[in-house]
Amino acid sequence: MTWTAHVLTILPEMFPGPLGHSLAGRAEALGMWRLTVGDIRGFATDRHRSVDDTPFGGGPGMVMRPDVVDAALAASPAGLPAYYLSPRGRTIDQALVRDLAAGPGCTLLCGRFEGVDQRVLDARGLTELSLGDFVLSGGEPAAIALVDACVRLLPGVMGEAGSADEESFADDLLEYPHYTRPAVWAGRAVPEVLASGHHAKIRAWRRAEAERLTRERRPDLWNRYVARAASGGRAI
Ligand code: SAH
Repeated sequence: MTWTAHVLTILPEMFPGPLGHSLAGRAEALGMWRLTVGDIRGFATDRHRSVDDTPFGGGPGMVMRPDVVDAALAASPAGLPAYYLSPRGRTIDQALVRDLAAGPGCTLLCGRFEGVDQRVLDARGLTELSLGDFVLSGGEPAAIALVDACVRLLPGVMGEAGSADEESFADDLLEYPHYTRPAVWAGRAVPEVLASGHHAKIRAWRRAEAERLTRERRPDLWNRYVARAASGGRAI
């Protein structure tokens, strides 16, 4: 079965958006994955086609109705795990992206307003996923980011096989710095070793740089990397 992202939104015109361009757009045109969009408003039952209502308990804003969201979820493709994009969720990271990309795809519920009535999240057992510790005005940009990250890992999507193994987070390290021509720019020369043609030395330099950057910038990743190396993982 083709890897499928099914997005539920009240703003279907936001899709495919960035997913229609470049790597993801080309891959979809080649049939390597598929995007389907469900318009939540199409599942409203009253004559105003309302998808939201005022919150019980008072307070500002509106809440998305459980009956309408539930009908949209019920009409989603069978066999796809369903997620709700939400700032309260587990923060999306590369490990989660790898797991999702290895599965059949996903149904992604995008909230708007103050969010979605809790009962439909509970009843459907939706897992909440967050793009980061900040608040968006809707789940759509988070859904686009998540699908983009998954699609580039699908078999055949990235040109050079194996390029995903080396990049940031592949083994809890940030990626080493990159350089291209000209060899000297604005008085700054490219690190000598990279022009040496000595592949073992280049590999060692890149790993040392990846380790230095991770140690300096991301102690959380660095500690995990060191612990893994100590427990018999890759030697540092
Ligand atoms: N009142 C909510 C925020 C609602 S923002 C709160 O304080 O938690 C409206 C919608 O944007 C949410 O329903 C969710 O779908 C989406 N959203 C906001 N921030 C997000 C984030 N960091 N990651 C994923 N989705 C997010």
